[in-house]
Amino acid sequence: MQLDDYIKAGKIASEVRELARAKDWVGKTLYEICETVESEIQSRGGKCAFPVNASLNEIAAHYTAEPNDPKILTSSDLVKIDLGVQINGYIADTAVSVSYDPQSAILVETAEEALKAAMAMVKEGIKSSEIGKTIQKTVMQYNLKPIANLSGHSLEQYTIHAGKSIPNMWSIGSFALSTKEAYACEPFVTTSRGLGFVREGKTKNIFGLVSRKKTKNENANKLVDFIWDNFNTLPFALRWITKSYEEKEARTLLEELIKNKIVRAYPVLNEANGQRVAQAEHTFIPTATGAIITTL
Ligand code: MN
Ligand code: MN
Repeated sequence: MQLDDYIKAGKIASEVRELARAKDWVGKTLYEICETVESEIQSRGGKCAFPVNASLNEIAAHYTAEPNDPKILTSSDLVKIDLGVQINGYIADTAVSVSYDPQSAILVETAEEALKAAMAMVKEGIKSSEIGKTIQKTVMQYNLKPIANLSGHSLEQYTIHAGKSIPNMWSIGSFALSTKEAYACEPFVTTSRGLGFVREGKTKNIFGLVSRKKTKNENANKLVDFIWDNFNTLPFALRWITKSYEEKEARTLLEELIKNKIVRAYPVLNEANGQRVAQAEHTFIPTATGAIITTL
């Protein structure tokens, strides 16, 4: 574990998240939001661990702007800005929900409160199911629902979801937190009318390399090399490719790589009853007495 790099990444992620929280995004396009947040990461010497997610309203996660995405944020929207910073592959994963709509404030505040309650209890040896129980209890006291099938996760070098889950509800199957691992905790909260789980939507605009096997198409092979050199196995957006490729060509080649199972596409995740969702997230490393919250 490279503690220094985790801490450096966390400091950048935290600064950029607070900037994203404070900024008035109304009237800005989702393209401007994602690009602005990403350039703030880069100007601080960080690399993006994944495309900045700007997921609106009932989209809980996994939406990033398309190239020149024209969708404009209005004062009645709720947007989850989820960002990742990596230093030598060591990742800080953090998120904030921003809404100017008073009706969504309770969702935003409850996600923050649930995260805070979880961060107050984490330390070496604490069971993941106990964290889920605390998040669930915090959320349900406001007659709101946690999202059952979204969870926090262990992190490894160049791997965002490294296999272990930190649930947002009490759940069977549990592991004890280790001081040798970094984790992200991310409560998602929806209304009492929500079903409390997400379904995959049709839109897919986040991608990841899964194999470097060659195809017969030399241009597709070159794109694989480009992806490997720039993003490794971490997620990427089409926006990041069209800085070097013409958009139409990039789309065609990417389609071909998806068809050949060389690249995977991640679908957006929608609240199953179309209800709004808020999220808050920190990355932390447990210690004997508490945790280093790298994104605090
Ligand atoms: Mn995240
Ligand atoms: Mn995460």
